[in-house]
Amino acid sequence: MIEVGNVSAFYGKHQALADVSLTVARGEVVVILGANGAGKTTLLKVIGGLVPSAPGATIAMAGTNIAGMAPHRIVEAGVALVPEGRGIFGELNVRENLLLGAYPARARANEAANLAMVLGLFPRLNERMKQTVRTMSGGEQQMVAIGRALMSAPDILLLDEPSLGLSPIMCKELFQILARIRGSGLGILLVEQNAKQSLKIADRGYLIESGRIVGSGTGAALQQDPAVQRAYLGAGA
Ligand code: ATP
Repeated sequence: MIEVGNVSAFYGKHQALADVSLTVARGEVVVILGANGAGKTTLLKVIGGLVPSAPGATIAMAGTNIAGMAPHRIVEAGVALVPEGRGIFGELNVRENLLLGAYPARARANEAANLAMVLGLFPRLNERMKQTVRTMSGGEQQMVAIGRALMSAPDILLLDEPSLGLSPIMCKELFQILARIRGSGLGILLVEQNAKQSLKIADRGYLIESGRIVGSGTGAALQQDPAVQRAYLGAGA
C-alpha cells in the first residue's frame, strides 16, 4: 500500500539515505534493522515529511505520490508516525492526547469509534483517561503515543524504536499489540533495536547499512540468516 522508491536524503553534505526502496502492504508488519546511525530514523522522517528527500524519490500511498508533501497532508493521506521519544504531550492527560490525534479531517467523523477501538486495544488507558501523561510509565506512555497515532485513522503506522526503554514484559505486550493492529488491516513499518522480538512478529524485514538497503527477506528467513544472527541476534558474540 505504501511504495517507497529511490529515496535519498542529505543533512548538508552528509548523505543519510541512498536510493532506498521498500514496500509495506495492508496487514503487514515490516521491520527495518540497522546499526546506530544507519539511517533508520531518517527514513521514517522522510516518509512522514519531516526530512526532505532528494529529487527523484517517489513515496506512493494508494497511488498518490506524497514525497515532498507537508507533514499534515501526509497524515491526511493515511500515514501516522510515532517518533522516537514518542511525541506526546506530557502535561496533558491521556484523553486529551488521544483526542488531539483525531484532529486530521480524515479522522474527525469517526472519532468516537476510533477512541473505542484504541481503548479496546489498550484497556489500561481506559482506566487512566484523566492521568497526566508525564506521570505514566514508559510503557504506558508508548501506548498513549501509539493510541494517538491510531486516532488519526491511518492506513500505515510508522514506529521508531517503540520498545526502547521498556521492561521485557512491556516489550512482549507491545509486540502482541502490534500484531493485533496488523490484524485490523493496517500496515506497520517498524524500526527496532530489539531484533529478536520484532523479527518474531514481522512478515518481512529490510537491513539498512550506511543509508542503503543491503538485504531483505521474510521475518522467518531473516531470523535464520547467519549474518543477521551475528549482527542483530547476538549469535557468536
Ligand atoms: P539510531 O539507531 O542511532 O537512531 P538511525 O539508524 O536512526 O540511528 P539516523 O538517525 O537516521 O540513524 O541518522 C543517519 C545519519 O544521519 C547519521 O550519520 C546521523 O549522524 C546523521 N544525522 C541524523 N540527523 C541529523 C541532523 N539533524 N543533522 C545532521 N546529521 C544528522
